[in-house]
Amino acid sequence: MTRKNKGILTVVSGFSGAGKGTIMKELLAKYEQNYALSISATTRAPRPGEKDGVEYFFKSREEFEKMIAAGELIEYAQYVGNYYGTPKAYVGKQLEAGRDVILEIEIQGALKVREQFPDALLLFVTPPSADELKRRLIGRGTESMEVIENRLARALEEAEGLEEYDYLVVNDVLEECVEEVHEIIRNEHYRVSRNAGNIREMREELKGFTRRQD
Ligand code: ADP
Ligand code: 5GP
Repeated sequence: MTRKNKGILTVVSGFSGAGKGTIMKELLAKYEQNYALSISATTRAPRPGEKDGVEYFFKSREEFEKMIAAGELIEYAQYVGNYYGTPKAYVGKQLEAGRDVILEIEIQGALKVREQFPDALLLFVTPPSADELKRRLIGRGTESMEVIENRLARALEEAEGLEEYDYLVVNDVLEECVEEVHEIIRNEHYRVSRNAGNIREMREELKGFTRRQD
């Protein structure tokens, strides 16, 4: 490519426990230069090991509602009793700088992002089976059985909206899944509609030839 295009905004969604967080960590560890991962704000409590400003910006409900009122979020949604939202400033800056930005958000937020960024790429991650999903949620050991049941009920609702997404990726073998996500985003750069600048430049150069021959 002769010219730097704007970065691609990719939304990654998937049932709780499908492995989104794990995939994102691997993807960033392997291809750090390629991606900028947006850090969301949330009112849910940090899990053991989670740090403010790393996995999330942890906020009180009051603080979160102030962010909504101040128009600081691209989108926000309620998920199993808590607010989650994407801060505006970081995403715009990274896209302009030509970096591919990833939002790891649930489906309502994904659809709101698509309204504002019609060329956003929407990926959905599933586990190989529903049984495996439950095993992973229990195995993670971070939620009570009640919360796990609520998250599984929410998974059924999310499955209804799956057709809104562009790509479905099954997270069976982690490394393979990470490569698939990387390839999908990489290939998206070659789409003709994302290369308008290059096409314009090439046309101008070609016109230069015909002028010289006149
Ligand atoms: P999500 O972010 O989608 O809620 P996590 O990334 O927290 O899911 O993963 C849920 C659990 O499943 C974690 O304990 C994680 O280690 C495990 N896990 C993730 N991917 C795989 C995989 N490909 N095979 C087996 N276990 C996995
Ligand atoms: P968790 O509590 O497991 O970290 O996340 C719960 C759900 O919230 C996941 O589906 C995750 O993708 C989603 N989520 C995380 N950040 C955001 C956000 O900024 N906006 C929206 N709409 N959903 C988010």
